[in-house]
Amino acid sequence: GFETFDAFFRHWAEERPDAVSHEQDGRQTTYAQLEEFSRRYAAFLSAHGVMKGDRIAWIGKNCDLYFQMLLTCGRIGVVMVPIGWRLAPAEMAYILEDTRAKLVFAGEGFEAVVHELATAAPLSPQVIEEGAARAAIPGAPADPIVAAEPEAAFLQLYTSGTTGKPKGAVLCQRNFMGLRGPALDASLPWAEWTPDDAILVCMPCAHIGGTGLGTMAFCGGARAIVQAEFTAEGALSAIGQGITRFFIVPAALQMLIQHPKATETDFTRLKYVMYGAAPIPLELLRQAVTTIPNADFIQMYGMTETTGTIAVLPPWDHDLAGNERMRSAGKACPGVAIRITDAAGHEVPRRTVGEIQIHSPANMLHYWQLPEATAKTLTPDGWVCTGDAAYMDEDGYIFIQDRIKDMIISGGENVYPAEVESAIYGHPQVAEVAVIGVPDTRWGEAVKACVVPREGCEVDEASVIAWARERIAGFKVPKSVDVIPALPRNPSGKILRRTLREPYWEGMD
Ligand code: ATP
Ligand code: MG
Repeated sequence: GFETFDAFFRHWAEERPDAVSHEQDGRQTTYAQLEEFSRRYAAFLSAHGVMKGDRIAWIGKNCDLYFQMLLTCGRIGVVMVPIGWRLAPAEMAYILEDTRAKLVFAGEGFEAVVHELATAAPLSPQVIEEGAARAAIPGAPADPIVAAEPEAAFLQLYTSGTTGKPKGAVLCQRNFMGLRGPALDASLPWAEWTPDDAILVCMPCAHIGGTGLGTMAFCGGARAIVQAEFTAEGALSAIGQGITRFFIVPAALQMLIQHPKATETDFTRLKYVMYGAAPIPLELLRQAVTTIPNADFIQMYGMTETTGTIAVLPPWDHDLAGNERMRSAGKACPGVAIRITDAAGHEVPRRTVGEIQIHSPANMLHYWQLPEATAKTLTPDGWVCTGDAAYMDEDGYIFIQDRIKDMIISGGENVYPAEVESAIYGHPQVAEVAVIGVPDTRWGEAVKACVVPREGCEVDEASVIAWARERIAGFKVPKSVDVIPALPRNPSGKILRRTLREPYWEGMD
């Protein structure tokens, strides 16, 4: 591992100068070029008045230039803030203003919206278009680098906004380097990166699953294949061409294995499928493991505030023979401590549900300009309170129930939507499902399932309820079913239950 990005750049430029570090649409960049680009970018930024500690924003799809710029930011201590391109302009404006960025990059196709946002923003940041930046690099000077220290912030990633407004988690070099991570820790077999490794980077760069895993991929000394966005076809084609590993969210995994081309794809060179960021229905996981039998599956659990993955479910626990552990999100990565606590912050016994708390060298520094939220999330002795409910078994495996905020209290019993969703998932008429609590005079809250029909199917409410009754306890079974055309999701593929819940709770809470 490295202490700093500066060390990373220098090491690979010397060790493997002519090896391809990354590529996009056939455009390849070697390790020597990457190092040189980074010196030119550093000079470019300082010529635009951007100093160490300043923030710059990026609005656009994944691209090689973004990652080159991001790693440069790490090297010199400028703070990069990627903003999700799938957000509505008003949501982008909220984040852009929150960051007080001096300069904002407009990815290809986002020039118009970025100019508009920058003009409206109180600090009117300079706009640099991707095309202009690309054209300027070759002519820019390649200055010597003043390397930032490991504690210097370089990445401000907004949380996905699943439970409320997104918050800017401030991360430093040490968050990436210090932990070495599941992807870099040599004690775990899938962490052995070799120059033959090729990693597909296709999750959105505005989230930890894109930028975090992307950074890991770049740092491993292997080859990263950057795709602008996830498409099942694009991922399958990269797999057919021999990528060795990738990270995707469960919703994307589902699209991938259900795509007609999945059956014709040659999966034999794919060594690892890393997935996570949201609960995965057991049935989907089984289907995926069956569709891609030669690859090892690794579930990752983590959050923006912990620089991504801090627990993994290893390949040997993906056991189709009914291993209970397949329901687990895994156990702590080396160097990470996980505890489960009650509302007062005291540790609870094994197999008792409480909040997951995390101690890790990769925990964020703080939330940007939110001292109260920071104080609620980071304890004085450095634990991150995740807001996720889980229990831990005797061997340290965590079993996530759901978000504490999404828990339904029905007739005094706690119901976790994810468990109910998992039970309904295999129903033949159901493509997707989200479970919420709705007001109920008798039960306080009643369990409701919102289901999206499979193509060409009609969903029969009574049959869905009967299906659930065969699989879970009576108090967890939905009292009603809504049929909807699609589930509301945020750009990281997570179901926005608060959006589904809203109409039922209007004026009530
Ligand atoms: P916000 O904090 O703004 O509401 P968010 O929590 O969705 O949004 P992220 O930091 O992107 O933002 O996501 C972290 C959360 O994702 C975790 O707290 C957890 O709820 C969920 N998660 C991550 N990995 C897994 C996993 N393997 N299984 C189940 N849930 C997961
Ligand atoms: Mg969160």
